Amino acid sequence: MTYRVKFWGVRGSIACPSPDHMVYGGNTSCVEISVGGHIFILDAGTGIRTLGRDLLRRGIASATLLLTHTHWDHINGFPFFAPAFSEHFQLRIMAGHLSGKPGGIRAVLANQMDNPTFPVPLSAMRGTVSFDDFAAGDTLAFPPGAVVRTAPLRHPNGATAYRIDYAGASVAYVTDTEHVPGQPDRNVLGLIAGADLVIYDSTYTDDEFPAKVGWGHSTWQEGVRLARAAGAKRLAIFHHDPDHDDTFMAEVEQAAAGMWDGAMVAREGMDLVMA
Ligand SMILES: [Zn+2]
Ligand SMILES: [Zn+2]
Repeated sequence: MTYRVKFWGVRGSIACPSPDHMVYGGNTSCVEISVGGHIFILDAGTGIRTLGRDLLRRGIASATLLLTHTHWDHINGFPFFAPAFSEHFQLRIMAGHLSGKPGGIRAVLANQMDNPTFPVPLSAMRGTVSFDDFAAGDTLAFPPGAVVRTAPLRHPNGATAYRIDYAGASVAYVTDTEHVPGQPDRNVLGLIAGADLVIYDSTYTDDEFPAKVGWGHSTWQEGVRLARAAGAKRLAIFHHDPDHDDTFMAEVEQAAAGMWDGAMVAREGMDLVMA
């Protein structure tokens, strides 16, 4: 088992713990991708808290956090990522939407943990924490042989999509992004071409979309259209709207499977072995 994907948070916007969200999960965006023993963490939504506990339990000593952007639902869990407080842990944090902005990703995360909105400052993280800003579209190389490609997304304040290729398998993480009906996003199509799995911002349905234009999100139907057009093998419907309870999501799951047998709905705790 050398390439594994685990979902620790599948919601967008805000966490929604409630009895009506138990099946698909209420934590915001966080996905763990482990390749050959190296851990990539995609986004630091509230799901990263339980991931952090799991990494400590597993004795993992380092990880790379790849942030799509810094809206609340993608960084809210960061101050609760326990491994970063351990002096034995190495965390590399990377973001592609702040290149050229003063302070970059470090300043945004420091502000999030600053007086008076949080009691524990970033400097209390005693691990070896490094911060890298790159430009969305860059290709990032990592020691274990993983190649990470990136692409800019259509989202207020910017966002970055990632694709991780390793051992002949590939997973693309594409959230948050808004599509233009009838005009497939070429940046997304290029990034997800032939991918084994595409995790896609499916906040809305096509029926809901006209009322949400400009909000920066897409639909599960557009995810299916893009995945099929790009020759991808599977689609994980992701970044669920907190207003979509388990009953609603089960209906999405059924409709998506009817549209394309490569489509599935991401659930918290879902664990996929890619290679
Ligand atoms: Zn989001
Ligand atoms: Zn966002």
